[in-house]
Amino acid sequence: MPKVTVQIDPSACILAANCVGIEPKLFQIGQESHVELTDASGVSHGTEYTFEASDKELEMIEEAVDSCPTRAIGMQTAS
Ligand code: SF4
Repeated sequence: MPKVTVQIDPSACILAANCVGIEPKLFQIGQESHVELTDASGVSHGTEYTFEASDKELEMIEEAVDSCPTRAIGMQTAS
């Protein structure tokens, strides 16, 4: 599975929560003023998280990137 790094730009995120609606296991709203990236166990990795993603997960992340009204989500893949 390819490795994907997902990043949130905390100054751009307005907590519109579009990403949370698409992939609630990865994007979560906590105590911060921006969305946080969480792993499968629910542990927060803050604004940058690298993990091995399935094709389905990659698809959902791409959808979340496209859905963000302020383009606050970045993603890079490496195989
Ligand atoms: S969709 Fe964008 S603005 Fe909304 S919570 Fe996610 S990262 Fe933040």
